[in-house]
Amino acid sequence: MSRARALSRGDLLPSLRTAVPGPRSLAISARLRAAEAPGINTLYRDQPSLAWRSARGANVLDVDGNRFIDLTAGFGAAAVGHANPAVRAAIRRQSALLLHGLGDVHAHEPRLELAELLQRLSPVDDPLVHFAVTGSEAVEVALKTAFLATGRSKVLAFEGAYHGLTFGALAATSRALFREPFHEHLTPHITRAPFGLAIPEIEALLARSANFACVIVEPILGREGIVLPPPDWLRELAALCASSGVLLIADEIFTGCGRSGTLFAVEHEQVRPDLLCCGKALAGGMPLAAVIGRRPLMQVWKSPGEALHTGTFVAHPTACAAALAVLGALRAERLPQRAQALGTDIERTLRPLAAHPRVREIRGRGLLWAIELDDADLAAHAVALAMTKGVILLAGGSLGSTLQIAPPLTISSRQLSTALTSVAMAVVDASVKAQASTR
Ligand code: PMP
Repeated sequence: MSRARALSRGDLLPSLRTAVPGPRSLAISARLRAAEAPGINTLYRDQPSLAWRSARGANVLDVDGNRFIDLTAGFGAAAVGHANPAVRAAIRRQSALLLHGLGDVHAHEPRLELAELLQRLSPVDDPLVHFAVTGSEAVEVALKTAFLATGRSKVLAFEGAYHGLTFGALAATSRALFREPFHEHLTPHITRAPFGLAIPEIEALLARSANFACVIVEPILGREGIVLPPPDWLRELAALCASSGVLLIADEIFTGCGRSGTLFAVEHEQVRPDLLCCGKALAGGMPLAAVIGRRPLMQVWKSPGEALHTGTFVAHPTACAAALAVLGALRAERLPQRAQALGTDIERTLRPLAAHPRVREIRGRGLLWAIELDDADLAAHAVALAMTKGVILLAGGSLGSTLQIAPPLTISSRQLSTALTSVAMAVVDASVKAQASTR
């Protein structure tokens, strides 16, 4: 492949010109710190972050001219690669025609095409689609649908779940750090159970109240540590929900759009949820999310007057056009199958690291993997060291001790193996330094 083509496809290995973060990144971080509220920050455990200038495929270029491999896919949004050519072409075409419309009031063609395509592709029986802008908003829509459709108000959510930070989603999110400051404003109707709890125990929990509207579950816990449930658990949970008349909401905002090796992760166990939330990768980096739900449930949104849940940017034409390109690319390039195959490579490459004394566990599926370390500081250190080797990754998990590997599904095998080798070296080097500093 020519260099120009490799550059435009984002198929390249890392190349560093400065120390990282470089001087321009540092300067931007410093200025941002003076301009932005500190909660949305350019600080990662006190380490200044990179300032990104451009991104293609699995490559990110920073403002200092350094090139990285992105093992985060931009929080999972760039599943079809950063700035996927088909997505960019769709955005260009659509923005020249109709960049922004009139939300839910007037129609446009990409909205229709996308709604129909999601109806066809989603593992939900006889579905209707409700668009949203962010993943958190999709979760709000799914919860509101469950409350309206059942007339009940209790939700069973799982420990370690992340569903977003808007009030409804936040109440269902597990990490106390996020919820505590807003405790008084959150619904008290959330019951939390351990993820993967034995089905008879969940049954007993649900039987305690006739007021359960829904169970909300990530098929694989994402942000809080990439945890897979026991085999068959999801299928049995779905069966329990069906038999007890409690709705099942699958939050596939991270796992959806091919990342787990199938278009949606529930498909691994032939589960057909009542409501399915997707977002992140759906529009290839444009903000768009959706809830796909069974028709009789979604009919509750019928309203004589004003729409009961909508917003200025709902079903944004440019984002809908981008999403059509994403779903086209996922199919044409067989990206879910590619994620599945590369997952096997990840397992093989990382296997030796599992024996390292500071590695607790290596686990994952498709292109969603975790290296769980025994300590958050070590994880932060490994992230910083990986950056100096040209690899961008995030630490996650409720304790911050898990390295998350969630690259674009288009990442080349060479990029993936290079990046994983760098991550493994970063873990080893960070452990050696940590040991030296305790002597
Ligand atoms: N649910 C899951 C499973 C997620 O991973 C996320 C984002 N990390 C959300 C909901 C919230 O999505 P957003 O950040 O787009 O609001």
